[in-house]
Amino acid sequence: MELLITGGRLVSGEPADVLVDGGAIVAVGRQPHAVADEVVDATGLVVAPGLVDGHRHVWQAPLRGIGADMTLTDYFGAVLGRALDAYTPADAHLATLLGAAEALDAGITTVVDWCNVAKSREHLDAVLDAYATAGIRAVVAHGGPGQDGDAEFLAGLDGRVRGGLAILGPQYGAGDEAARQIRLARSLGLMTSMHMAGGADEPLDRLHAAGLLGPHLQFVHVNAMTPHEARLLSDTGAGVTVTPVVEGTMGHGASPYSRFAGAGGRCGLGTDVVVNAPPDLFEPLRDTLRRHRAETSSMAPAGPVLAAATADSAAAIGLGSSVGAVAPGLRADLVLLSGLAHVRGDAAAALVTTSRSSDVHTVIVDGRIVKRAGHLTTLDLPKLREAAVSLALRATDC
Ligand SMILES: [Zn+2]
Repeated sequence: MELLITGGRLVSGEPADVLVDGGAIVAVGRQPHAVADEVVDATGLVVAPGLVDGHRHVWQAPLRGIGADMTLTDYFGAVLGRALDAYTPADAHLATLLGAAEALDAGITTVVDWCNVAKSREHLDAVLDAYATAGIRAVVAHGGPGQDGDAEFLAGLDGRVRGGLAILGPQYGAGDEAARQIRLARSLGLMTSMHMAGGADEPLDRLHAAGLLGPHLQFVHVNAMTPHEARLLSDTGAGVTVTPVVEGTMGHGASPYSRFAGAGGRCGLGTDVVVNAPPDLFEPLRDTLRRHRAETSSMAPAGPVLAAATADSAAAIGLGSSVGAVAPGLRADLVLLSGLAHVRGDAAAALVTTSRSSDVHTVIVDGRIVKRAGHLTTLDLPKLREAAVSLALRATDC
């Protein structure tokens, strides 16, 4: 099935029609005579790559706003402890639908779901079922002691929803176990994701000495990143994803975006959790720009920061050859934004500094329209919010 997006402009300012076939972008440029099964009129809209959320605990969507003043210790007890314990497989399904709806509404077309809620195979199946319905691109990252079987199962997923291994890593867990899990994931072709504070060179040095650092790994946060760690991660091509809004709100420390850039690395962005942060990537983009300008004491241009939520975010999770740009050969994950029709030339800087979820006009994932003229087509966001209220009250009633 062919889809033609016509009359829009790319973020670069170039007028562009985008022709999609079989879920992939097949041509970008003027297509005056192209015929397609469906035509989307993008006149006055900016055609941007779909945003890539490299780190999100999607199951927490019903718990939005409950953790505004939580420390990390509070969060471990109330959210990763008591609330998570209360989730049934049906709750995991509903919460994943709600989280996916909030992401799609904000122009996020790919999410790495750090899926703590996959406590049992039934929970994991419920999550995968929700993604089949939602239409968002997802990497379901899950794993833990005794769950190697789930890793093998996740490695069998291919296409719009695929698997990853989520591990404690060498700083929050045992180094030997981290090495074993990374080897397992690598043998299965899975990306391995782990939280890391950084600031202690030894865990990364040990992974490097064992030949285990590389693009198949994703390190999240790394707020205390040292110059040595920045070089090691950059030189080996390991992915780094920062979630600056949550990191700042919870006091994890300053985003390493500028430090990593100084070593030649490129951070991706994530939302992390909605218990104390909004469900979109626009605020993390702006937070990154402001901090980068402050840390470099410069008027670093705003436009290039967009890559942190698109191409660089995709690269940090191993999907750089599939999504993150509007180019032939890539999957057709696109966002059409309103409000910038008057901007001459490059619109990336205007997007980074001013766009918000209400400007997200149309969203396309894998060639399928999932938001059209401001309304989600696969999910009913207000109904999901309403349905999730009783789940949230039950999960926080202790
Ligand atoms: Zn996290």
